Amino acid sequence: MDAEGLSADELFCFLKAKRKEDYSYSNILSSMCTSPHPVAVEAHNLFMETNLGDPGLFPGTADLEDRLIRWFADLYNEPSAGGCTTSGGTESNIQVLRFCKKTKNVENPNIIVPASAHFSFEKACGMMDIEMRIAPVDEEFRMRTDAAGELIDKNTCCIIGVAGTTEYGVTDPIPALGKIAGQEGIHLHVDAAFGGYVLPFIENAPAFDFSVPEVGSISVDPHKMGMSTIPSGVLMVRDEKVFCNLLVETPYLTTKQAYSLTGTRPGASVAAAYAVMAYMGRRGMKALVSGCMENTRRVIEGMEAFGVQRRVTPDVNVATFEHVSVPSPWIVSYTRRGDLRIVCMPHVNRDVVEAFLSDFGESHVPDIN
Ligand SMILES: *Cc1c(COP(=O)(O)O)cnc(C)c1O
Repeated sequence: MDAEGLSADELFCFLKAKRKEDYSYSNILSSMCTSPHPVAVEAHNLFMETNLGDPGLFPGTADLEDRLIRWFADLYNEPSAGGCTTSGGTESNIQVLRFCKKTKNVENPNIIVPASAHFSFEKACGMMDIEMRIAPVDEEFRMRTDAAGELIDKNTCCIIGVAGTTEYGVTDPIPALGKIAGQEGIHLHVDAAFGGYVLPFIENAPAFDFSVPEVGSISVDPHKMGMSTIPSGVLMVRDEKVFCNLLVETPYLTTKQAYSLTGTRPGASVAAAYAVMAYMGRRGMKALVSGCMENTRRVIEGMEAFGVQRRVTPDVNVATFEHVSVPSPWIVSYTRRGDLRIVCMPHVNRDVVEAFLSDFGESHVPDIN
């Protein structure tokens, strides 16, 4: 840090130049984040200085959090469900393992995750000394329920199913996992960080929410398909009492106790998440999601017309293909197995899809074998 500060002009000249070094979402086909909706930006700015870590000082903001939770309770078919906001899918998953471990209270706890699980579980298990048992997936990358069942023992404190996997966009067989979890009395958590804003708005989507009676918790990220500002996560729980064993005393704050992992917590991105849902309504979200799904089908059809086979037909707007490279300036990603992965986020609109397919078609030399 220099002794004398910069002028605002100099400072922002520098900051704008730095910002220009970033890629623009218009060429990004690899991300589960997107440009926030304009109403999210406006709401975020309005609530910029609010801190949900001390909710008594910000009752208006805290009420928005409550309303957001009520909406998700309705959307996930359990009006009495509770929940809280977090910084995203990672923190939500950590919170679930914290309360599962405490509730189970055994010496060597373990959890069962599908091989397709997000890497946040590896972090969470490392932090908490929990053994992570990995159940293989089938040829469509869905968790094999039989294999999951075999991994369970008396120290298993949580089974995790994913609704809309990060890599392949498929949903694990949640009702079948529910059966196992129910029989064994184990908490079933559904990681719907991505799919939680997609599946409720599609016809004939696979079951993943509280309508499956054994589902105990669901995580969902407004900063992905919820078009909110970063950081924004929601953790829904069927029974709010699961949070009780995480409570700590919070002297000198307006509340006496808190169960959240983080202390100071942004109200801005909560207001932004609320704003998007209020503005879009169910009908708006349905239209948005059906557009993204339509574009996903178009990418798959377009790539297959070039002889590049899809890896799987996804449940959400993530398209995967056998490994091929793509021309610049397009930014794509590859899965752990090396498959090409394209996420059809709202910024990947029809024009973007057609421009990508056209560039790809010009550069792609089909494999003559
Ligand atoms: C993105 C994602 C996460 C992690 O969420 P962050 O907000 O990046 O912490 C967890 N699980 C799934 C399935 C995800 O897609």
